[in-house]
Amino acid sequence: MTNSSPAAAPLPPPAAAVDLTGRTALVTGGGSGIGRACVLALAQAGATVHVVDRDADGAKAVAEIAGGVAHVADLADPDAIALLPAEADILVNNAGLQYVAPLTEFSRERFELIQRVMVTAPFLLMQRTLPHMQHTGWGRIVNVSSVHGLRASAYKSAYVAAKHGLEGLSKVAAIEGASHGVTSNCVSPGYVRTPLVEGQVRDQAAAHGISEGDVVSDVLLARSPMKRLIEAEEVAAAVVWLCGPHARHLTGASLPLDGGWTAG
Ligand code: NAD
Repeated sequence: MTNSSPAAAPLPPPAAAVDLTGRTALVTGGGSGIGRACVLALAQAGATVHVVDRDADGAKAVAEIAGGVAHVADLADPDAIALLPAEADILVNNAGLQYVAPLTEFSRERFELIQRVMVTAPFLLMQRTLPHMQHTGWGRIVNVSSVHGLRASAYKSAYVAAKHGLEGLSKVAAIEGASHGVTSNCVSPGYVRTPLVEGQVRDQAAAHGISEGDVVSDVLLARSPMKRLIEAEEVAAAVVWLCGPHARHLTGASLPLDGGWTAG
């Protein structure tokens, strides 16, 4: 039996660094936390990065370090999204927000806002950038999901619904992009060491009279075999790897960067 599919282009050695020279990336929520780490890692790999955030100071500061371009935009507003660059080779849908309340008390406005920022905006940005990726025959979409894209927790109805929606959207983009050289994947971290999470750890330690280490291992990471917060730089490294040549056959997947949480 002969294999009639075309031969793939030669690959660099397995240990070679990912080289994104000449590529343009657009990172949402790039002004802080995981998005900031993604911007810096993509720029270090050679990409020109558009940093999108509603926080003007954050976006500008990160763009300056990365030698990129800051765009101040509220991703809840489709008109603002329509002004963002369409010619991106790499799209990192990262911006997100959390709100915690019992389902019976969750406000409809907050629920809808979270869907707009975390599902509708990624959809609109895919619509905006896919024609360029398909035209050039190369594109990488990386969606920053969460362990909550794969598992549920109480009081996080909007967030869990949005992240599960993002996982589904990512798979559709993978299927539609496959014949055009476009991959679409999710990275799905457990708790990441960001200023927000560190603040939560301090507050809970004070509230419960326990150590910060016990809050991390017994409260936040109760369902995770690994009792350690992941660093934003580790998430960014996975994002860059997904943009590199050795990940070119990986699409429609979700990388669970969750210390084994979803293995249980
Ligand atoms: P963060 O709050 O540090 O950064 C989020 C960024 O998104 C901020 O700069 C914020 O200004 C921006 N943003 C929020 N709403 C926006 C809007 N409407 N328009 C434009 N920008 C907006 O948070 P983070 O922890 O870095 O989270 C980044 C992503 O990672 C989110 O999607 C989050 O759900 C996901 N995530 C975080 C964790 C964690 O433990 N921190 C774990 C899993 C997944």
